[in-house]
Order: sequence, then structure tokens, then C-alpha cells
Amino acid sequence: MGFVKGLKCRECGKAYPKEPLHVCSYCFGPLEVDYDYDGIKKVLTRKLIESRGKTMWRYQELLPIDGEPTVGAQVGFTPLVKANNLARVLGVDELYIKNDSVNYPTFSFKDRVVSTALTKAKEFGFKTVGCATTGNLGNSVAAQAVQAGLESYIIMPADLEQGKIIGTLIYGVNVIKVKGNYDNVNKLCSEIADKYGWAIVNVNLRPYYGEGSKTYGYEIMEQLGWKTPKHIVVPMAGGSLITKIEKSIKEFAMLGLIDKADTKLHGAQASGSSPITTAVKLETDVIRPVKPNTIAQSIAIGNPADGFYSVKTINVSGGWAEDVTDDELVEGIKLLARTEGIFTETAGGVTVAVTRKLIEQGKLPRNESIVISITGNGLKTQEAVINKLEIPKIINPSLAEFVALIEEKKAAARR
Ligand SMILES: *Cc1c(COP(=O)(O)O)cnc(C)c1O
Ligand SMILES: [Zn+2]
Repeated sequence: MGFVKGLKCRECGKAYPKEPLHVCSYCFGPLEVDYDYDGIKKVLTRKLIESRGKTMWRYQELLPIDGEPTVGAQVGFTPLVKANNLARVLGVDELYIKNDSVNYPTFSFKDRVVSTALTKAKEFGFKTVGCATTGNLGNSVAAQAVQAGLESYIIMPADLEQGKIIGTLIYGVNVIKVKGNYDNVNKLCSEIADKYGWAIVNVNLRPYYGEGSKTYGYEIMEQLGWKTPKHIVVPMAGGSLITKIEKSIKEFAMLGLIDKADTKLHGAQASGSSPITTAVKLETDVIRPVKPNTIAQSIAIGNPADGFYSVKTINVSGGWAEDVTDDELVEGIKLLARTEGIFTETAGGVTVAVTRKLIEQGKLPRNESIVISITGNGLKTQEAVINKLEIPKIINPSLAEFVALIEEKKAAARR
């Protein structure tokens, strides 16, 4: 079992052993997992995948572990929803929602990267894990570390949404709140990884961690009947997910599991934290770091680790990128809820609102298939909408009062 040859530098190609390393010591490029694709091609067929349990581990050969998954064995295989109601409102023919707001166990796509990273951490023999988080990653590391019997340290900006903080504290793990934004927290975590030798999933285990995101893409293709959509719209924070969806498509094409890799990948950010979309729109691959200022905290990263690669992914695929204001993202959350019955968090609101914008711009042609990536759950970011909803009137348990209220509502609707 296991098709991982080792790690390889994305820039200079230098090979490294399977170890908790993440930067090339020669050129400082990021390291990436190197697979034996010839070996994988001999065993991995559609039929074998379909015969397995409905979890992300049905693509196990393409994940960077040597043994069986020991953490998060139930994660993934979330619904791909045909979104006919939203399609009608947006004026497009074929629209889907890949809904990771119901991922197991913590309701975001981060459960995929964490089950991968923690399985790897156990293979390496780590006893303590941690992460720098904008919210969802911390929820997932905390929950899955508890399940795996690992000690964990979750390091977060002090001002995250209540749902994200409680959604970590509840697991009884070590939570450290830091005065500052995610970029400050991330830098601190690099120093912590060096000093304590812990497995920080998005720092020293980053090459392994990111691979878990590929399963989001594999599932989309399998759920479409082993086909690619023409377009996928993806929210971007550090920019890892969008590059891994691209990789998932290339790998499936290379392995003959789909016919061709022709999907355009479109990136979505909040205007208050848009270093990647700004670079795409300026037609440069130079990322200018920003100081985030948006309610979309889960994707508020001012200095994205994979910024350069995500710009490349978008350009090479023929996609585009856009960003939206906080008001527009709130409208996006409400629109998805009111058309498809899916309550997403701020990042999902960004993706829906950006999709709308790209359709209006003609970047998403109305007769081509589109997948919207919904990556997190709205119950965790209630602050975003709490003051934007109608407050229900309170009545006594009386039929007369109910009738009066209904008549009043009908009259208001006629006005
Ligand atoms: C982390 C996160 C993202 C983006 O992740 P990157 O891989 O860092 O770009 C998107 N949506 C949600 C809800 C997230 O928590
Ligand atoms: Zn290198």
C-alpha cells in the first residue's frame, strides 16, 4: 500500500524523502508530494473506486499516506446538488453546488485536509499537532485530534466569529488567541513548529495536508458521471484549494478516469482581502500582500502562501477572478439559502456573489456547466446575517392573533 515516492520541490525539482518538510533548502520553493503514477494507473479504476465506501478515502491511492487512514475515516463524499432554482435566478442552464457545508465532522472542506494531515502526523509518530487558523481549520484539527488521541494547539486571531471560537473550545483542546490577523498568527506558527517540533498541519505538514483538498475535485468529477464541468468557482484564502482542484482534474485525466482536463477555474475573494483576484485582474503574477478588512474571516489572508500558484492555475485553465463587497457577500448567502435551502458561511456568500458577477461579465457563459464551491456552514458565522433578516413578530398562542397576523402579512405583500 502507498504510492508516495517522496517530496519534490515545485520550483527546482530536487527530491526529498518522505519527511515533515515543506521548503526546499536550495531554492526555498514549496515541496510537493511525488507519486508513482505508473503504479497507481495499474490499480486504480472507476470500478474499484465505485466499489468503496462513500468517503474521500475511496481515492486513497492518490492521497499521501502509506497505510490505511487512521483519522477521519468517514470524511468527505458530500452532496453535489443540481441547483435548478438558483440557475433560474442567475439565468444559466446547468448549475451545481458542491456542498461541503455538511462535511463530517466539522462542516467545512477543512475536514478533508485535516484527516489527511493527522493520518500523516500519526504515521510520522507525532504526539502533538496544531494549526494557524482563520476558523474552520481550527475546528477540524481540534475535533479530529481528539478522535485520534493527539494533543492539539489551535492558534487563532483573537477576533474570530463566536461560532468558530466555540466550535474549537468545545473539544477541550489548547486554544491560543493572538492579537493580530491571520498573517501574524501564521508567522508565529512557523516559529512554534521550529521550537517545539510539533506537527503544525498547515506549516510543516503543508505538502501532505494540501493533498486532501484534491478529493473535493475528484468527487465533483465522479458525481458528474466521470465528467468535468466547464467551470468551477472556488473561494480563495491561502490559494491552496483552487490549485488542488486543478491537480485533481489533471490526475484524473492522466489516469484515464476522465476524457479530458478542460475545466476553467475561477477564483473568488472578498474585496477587503483580495490579493489574488487583484493580481489576476491586473494581469500580473506578483502578489501584493494586503491587510484584510472583511467579514469573510475564513478567507481573510493578506499574504497567501499559494498566491502565485493560484494565479497561475487560473490563467493556465482560462478562468478569471473577481471579488465582492461585504454587502454583496451577505446577499450571496441569502440568495443561496432562499433558492436552494443551503445555509453557507461568509466564504460561500463570496463564491455565490462572485459567480453572479462573472455571469454578468460573460466570463461564465450561460449555456455552459458551472459548479459553485460551497466550503463552509452558515451556522458558524451568524454575525454576518443576524441584522439583515426580518425579525418575526411574537404572538400569544391564539388563533385570532394568528389570523390577524396572516391578514396583515397578506396586506403588506399586496402593497
Ligand atoms: C480555508 C477556507 C477556504 C480557502 O482555503 P485555501 O485553500 O487556503 O485557499 C475556503 N473556504 C472556507 C470556508 C475555508 O475555511
Ligand atoms: Zn527547490
